[in-house]
Amino acid sequence: MLKILNGIRRFQRNVFPKYERTFQELASQQAPEALLITCSDSRVVPELFTQCGPGDLFVYRNAGNIIPPFRAEDGSGTLATIEYAVSVLKVKSLIICGHSDCGAMKGVLHPESVRHLPLVDRWLRQAECARRIVCEYHKDVPEHEQLQLLIQENVIAQLESVKTHPCVAVALARNELQLYGLYYNISSGHVSAYDPESGQFAPLMDSVPPAGPRPRVSREKKAA
Ligand SMILES: [Zn+2]
Repeated sequence: MLKILNGIRRFQRNVFPKYERTFQELASQQAPEALLITCSDSRVVPELFTQCGPGDLFVYRNAGNIIPPFRAEDGSGTLATIEYAVSVLKVKSLIICGHSDCGAMKGVLHPESVRHLPLVDRWLRQAECARRIVCEYHKDVPEHEQLQLLIQENVIAQLESVKTHPCVAVALARNELQLYGLYYNISSGHVSAYDPESGQFAPLMDSVPPAGPRPRVSREKKAA
């Protein structure tokens, strides 16, 4: 805790004065560009690797950047956060970002390793679609590749899951919202983006195509 307390003091003394004007402008309103959903992992710092500042990103984090499908009776924070960001803040982009060496996805790949953690176990079962795809199509690749593929498949699966949320469906139908999938590599700092044309993650270009329907042909090619 000492490290955090010292950090707060340094922030108030050295950093806040540089941002004072920005924070004054943001004091009673926000208009973030994007809702970014990523993992709780301490090594993933969205504002650092996107170089966004205060007020730019509305960030929601949980273990494994998982978005449960919409259920009307569900009062979870995930649903409420998405609804607020899309319907009230009217973010233009909804980004789901997975990352390398994700502990949550390791738990998905090896469910037996989280059996003693009932809540984690139950939460991670929501990434079962991604696990099945990897086990079905990539069962013979080395473990580290399997993990990377699982992390990326999970981002793609969550891009589908988020579309079950009525507020997202409406914003997409009105063409007021775009969905994007990213993969952040902790050791290199590289970010790749889901390309709906190829169904793969590719290095970032000047523009990133929004995530559309999954191409069937490329999946069949992969399986061969
Ligand atoms: Zn993670």
